[in-house]
Amino acid sequence: MSDALVSALLGAVPGATTDPVALGTHRTDRSGGAGTAGAPPPALPLALVRAASVEDVQATLRLAHEARVPVVPRGAGSGVAGGAIAGAGSVVLDISGMDRVLELDPVDEVAVVEPGVITAHLDAAAREHGLMYAPDPASAAISTLGGNIATNAGGMRCVKHGVTREAVLGLDVVLADGRLLRTGRRTLKGVAGLDLTSLFVGSEGTLGVIVGAALRLKPAPVVTLTAAAAYGDVRAAAAACAAVSRERLQPSLLELLDRATLKVVDRAQGTDLAARGGALVIAQADGPGARQEIEAIAAVLGKEATWVEQGVDDASSEQLLAARRLALPSIERFGRALIEDICVPRSRLADAIQGVEAIAARTGVAIYSFAHAGDGNLHPIISYDAALPEAPPAVHEAADAIFGLALDLGGTVTGEHGIGLLKREWLARELGPDSLDVHHSLKRALDPHGILNPGKAF
Ligand SMILES: Cc1cc2nc3c(=O)[nH]c(=O)nc-3n(C[C@H](O)[C@H](O)[C@H](O)COP(=O)(O)OP(=O)(O)OC[C@H]3O[C@@H](n4cnc5c(N)ncnc54)[C@H](O)[C@@H]3O)c2cc1C
Repeated sequence: MSDALVSALLGAVPGATTDPVALGTHRTDRSGGAGTAGAPPPALPLALVRAASVEDVQATLRLAHEARVPVVPRGAGSGVAGGAIAGAGSVVLDISGMDRVLELDPVDEVAVVEPGVITAHLDAAAREHGLMYAPDPASAAISTLGGNIATNAGGMRCVKHGVTREAVLGLDVVLADGRLLRTGRRTLKGVAGLDLTSLFVGSEGTLGVIVGAALRLKPAPVVTLTAAAAYGDVRAAAAACAAVSRERLQPSLLELLDRATLKVVDRAQGTDLAARGGALVIAQADGPGARQEIEAIAAVLGKEATWVEQGVDDASSEQLLAARRLALPSIERFGRALIEDICVPRSRLADAIQGVEAIAARTGVAIYSFAHAGDGNLHPIISYDAALPEAPPAVHEAADAIFGLALDLGGTVTGEHGIGLLKREWLARELGPDSLDVHHSLKRALDPHGILNPGKAF
């Protein structure tokens, strides 16, 4: 059956190939292997289809549906949860070549895009009209909009401007049997029918392949200003973030870095951040009232701070934010990084960070924490020796303990990266049997043969 499918694909879709080099570069993502950190990559998939059109996607799925062969949708492969990992017996469906912005309407503030458009490219196109595409994953320069939608990606400015879900008005989705479904609409309001758009946002390639999207744009801020403050420890830093919320201030970015992260940035970049305090908070305000807002935010942040500074222009603001942008690259300089992504009610952020510190001490594993503090979204980065063939057991023990901590604090095992392969077991714990059962019923209704990204998410 598989051989017949491969022959049919090679005959029907120009972008289909069985070239082992191409298969090798398309079988994994940035999670580091076959679903566990540092594990060896999976065996080669059956075939790769580089789709150039909706018709290519439809033909691929129609054939795979008939042959009951798994299909793994793929954008840029920048995912860190193993969602795009494709093993033996599967077909990789790469949509990154469908990368046109089809329409950008400055009056409606709507863009219609193909799924392979790089996130930052849409933002840049929007800026030409004084608009922006608000969701800003740190991977915006490499990830695709289709991948962002499939994972409901978030980013630093989402604290004010919303995650990907808030930007998606409508989708074109190819279903498992090859039918093309249009969900939602390109108007800013609309309540006709069930909200099928939301069903596909964050579905990680398990319910359909996104082949088009109508996305909401927002006015680009005329000015963005930054303040940063250092504290004796993370509890004081988290308390300062909570005070910002209590004062009903609305930063467009509110990030927190712990002592371990400051130290590793210093080590990699030659800075002296750790000398300023044991934790750092960086905030931004944007829009017409930014100047007043950042003054008010800086006043609140400054109360218990050991150091505080405000950026007076774009260059000094960017310098203050550099510590946050350089955190992950600095950690990766000294070891392999397993990127975790828990989210807790923001009132529990200090408990989460201190819980992670306790886990690091107990397991003996190096863990660096930085957070989208305004969302309660914490990235504990577990680092281990890059020379090891795979992650040692203590790393898995630490990751498990972090997920348990998130649930104990009333949070979730993933704030923005998705479940993929890495967190399936934990999803079941978070959702419980009834919710999981509803998930499986929806999956059966849309993909009766279970060909779409099987073994991922739920
Ligand atoms: C350095 C770095 C920084 C990152 N920072 C962030 C961050 O700040 N915020 C954040 O949310 N994520 C972040 N990520 C993770 C990653 O970039 C996001 O998850 C991104 O949305 C994935 O997009 P992609 O195009 O690479 O998708 P892929 O990795 O190719 O796929 C991700 C998932 O989506 C599915 N998929 C992809 N395209 C489609 C489609 N067209 N239709 C249906 N399913 C599809 C895949 O099957 C898979 O399950 C980061 C990753 C890296 C490496």
